[in-house]
Amino acid sequence: MSLTVLVNAGPWLPVPPKGYGGIENIVATLVPELRRLGVRVVLGTVDSSELPVDEKLAVFAEGQFGHLQRPYNQACGIVQSHLHAVVRRVRDGGDIDLVHDHVEAAGLATLAALGPDAPPVLHTLHWDLAKHPELYGGFDGGDRVRVNGVSASQLARAPKALRDHSVGHVHLATPLAVDAERRLADRGGAAAKGRHVVVLGRINPGKGQDLAARLAHRAGFDLVLAGPVGPYQQPAELAAAEHDPVAAANPDVRFWRERVAPYVDGERVRWIGTVAGRDRDDLVASARVSLFPLRWAEPGGTAVVESLALGTPVVGLAEGCLPELVVHGDTGLLTTDEETLADLVNWAGEIDPRRCAAEAARRFTPAVMAESYLTLYERVRKGPLLS
Ligand code: UDP
Repeated sequence: MSLTVLVNAGPWLPVPPKGYGGIENIVATLVPELRRLGVRVVLGTVDSSELPVDEKLAVFAEGQFGHLQRPYNQACGIVQSHLHAVVRRVRDGGDIDLVHDHVEAAGLATLAALGPDAPPVLHTLHWDLAKHPELYGGFDGGDRVRVNGVSASQLARAPKALRDHSVGHVHLATPLAVDAERRLADRGGAAAKGRHVVVLGRINPGKGQDLAARLAHRAGFDLVLAGPVGPYQQPAELAAAEHDPVAAANPDVRFWRERVAPYVDGERVRWIGTVAGRDRDDLVASARVSLFPLRWAEPGGTAVVESLALGTPVVGLAEGCLPELVVHGDTGLLTTDEETLADLVNWAGEIDPRRCAAEAARRFTPAVMAESYLTLYERVRKGPLLS
């Protein structure tokens, strides 16, 4: 018997997203695999989404990200219009077996109130919930809503009301993990590794680029920082905002200006802005180490699994999901001590890139993720917690 799942990606960005869009990227990775496994997918999204699905459900023509209101948990008009269409589709169609929701907490109450005859809802948590407890402040999933994390550590830090409704966790996946070993060999394997260490991620205090930059100077390794600073994707864009008071008030811009930029000399430490597609893959694949000097509990770590899939050992602080994703001594090196990170960068030369790629191919492919979700779907549909 085939399963029909309404995967709700929300009204903010198309699927796949054109640029930024972690949640929408995960949905774009998951849905084709679910369909390959025989699931019928109705996608709650915006009309400009190009991902092939069995049915597209859209209220808005384009992504509404530009109109995003904060805090996210306030169910604004955009979310409500989108969710009402989802609710109508579920009620009127009568064919949906489960709603797999990826929209932030806003509107969970709407889905929870679908009624006793409605299909259950699985809501995937995408945030560090200890840092953002307000997101699910009034959460009451009742009997209809279950949640899953993107790592065990994320769930462990979540508020009790969410943990009580949890059915487990599913690690994030990357299409780069498919055939990772062959692609590593095609690139020349370890021989193609350059001298640089890379930090891939938003420039943000939690991602720790300040620590990386300081260590690069102290220990003498070449460091490339890739990622946006707040809304500024490229150095030229940020430079153009030099006297802009809005930019000055942005916490990521402040972090950059005060804590990171003083170390960026264009030689030992470089910031290259956001890299995408093939450029991103080449940058990471040719790095000798992918560094995660995290100061926050990374909830899912897409960039971590991507690094492994590209055959690049991960060195980092053992925060959040990192110890779940990285096998210490085998695919990377982790520590709880900031000052030893630089030593680990040197020692990571002992890690075999093929081990990283093999581990990614075993654990972080879209197929593995989709199969895990199928298991959760069954758990949610049959779970003892549901009335
Ligand atoms: N990313 C990118 N180019 C950059 C920096 C980051 O494509 O210059 C991507 C990265 O490859 C990953 C995503 O942005 O897919 C970041 O996701 P992650 O879960 O690592 O961190 P988040 O930003 O969600 O905390």
